[in-house]
Amino acid sequence: MKQRTKPTSSKADEHGILFTELTRTSTTTTTIKITENDEKNKLLSFDSLPDYMQDNEFIRDHYRCEWPLKHVVLSVFSVHNETLNIWTHLIGFMIFLWLTAMSLTKKAPVENLVGSFFRPESDGPSMTMMSNKTDGSDSFFPNSYLRHIPKPSILHVNEDSDVIPKWPWFVFLGGAMCCLICSSLAHLFACHSRRFYLFFWRLDYSGISLMIICSFFAPIYYAFSCHPYWRLIYLVSITGFGGLAIFTLLAPGLSSGRFRSFRANLFLTMGFSGVIPAAHAVILYWDKNPQIPVALGFEVVMGLFYAAGAGFYMSRIPERWRPGAFDIVGHSHQIFHVFVVAAALAHSGATLVIMEWRSRGLQICDG
Ligand SMILES: [Zn+2]
Repeated sequence: MKQRTKPTSSKADEHGILFTELTRTSTTTTTIKITENDEKNKLLSFDSLPDYMQDNEFIRDHYRCEWPLKHVVLSVFSVHNETLNIWTHLIGFMIFLWLTAMSLTKKAPVENLVGSFFRPESDGPSMTMMSNKTDGSDSFFPNSYLRHIPKPSILHVNEDSDVIPKWPWFVFLGGAMCCLICSSLAHLFACHSRRFYLFFWRLDYSGISLMIICSFFAPIYYAFSCHPYWRLIYLVSITGFGGLAIFTLLAPGLSSGRFRSFRANLFLTMGFSGVIPAAHAVILYWDKNPQIPVALGFEVVMGLFYAAGAGFYMSRIPERWRPGAFDIVGHSHQIFHVFVVAAALAHSGATLVIMEWRSRGLQICDG
């Protein structure tokens, strides 16, 4: 700015110099800002991370680390090693949101398709009974098995049959959505600071436990509707066990990578404790209803998906085979996420089959 006061300068010169200086100053400021932003948005390697963030040494690069909150939020649309972890569960959340919307909507266009997708093809007594209620699906699916599928589906209240309470189904959907959104948020925000890291991973583990507890509600509620004491015992047990698991997982020490196997085993134990009520229901109804084996089949698929997912989670395959090669796409946590969504969908199938059975007037208890 000194030049502005020089007595020898003409007015034009003064303006020219002022303009040049202002331009230079603004260019410098912009450059500094860009450099600062670059610095804030820089993806780090595993070795440059602070201790508390070093979790999986086989993912070598592309870490966001202590970014400002705004940049963290925007990073949902950028490429880093958590992008697919965020999106796999965000898409899962959207699927369950859609299922919830369909379940709440009486005349949803896809309700029959969803309901029929989960309904067994069977010539058993219940299906014979239901076949009187077809509503013209033959014209849409003349030669497919879908034409054998009676309507209306469980996804809307049956005006012409006994209505069963739908709240246990919504408890499951709510638990699944809660788990999936908590997981997406954890994968998005945990990198912001140590405080966020501890908070969001504990939120994630609590969400998983909550989903497992909520998953039990609907099948147990519907399968044991003629055995209220057993229903109470099973529901109280899983709620107590799940509550204890959440309490344990809230301990800050258990969030570290060292306890990866402990957490996975705890979730698996919770999940597989469902074998006890499932076996009980099968003993009670195996020969009385053809839909029970179908529901059981869905639950077995769910168990296999969870087990496979937990296997990837604990073993950190495939990234341990080629560290750094799966940083962005294909590492174990992403595979685990896909299995979690698939398992929850298989469980939805089992629950809808059981609900179908109960909603068709077959809940008359033997006494
Ligand atoms: Zn996750």
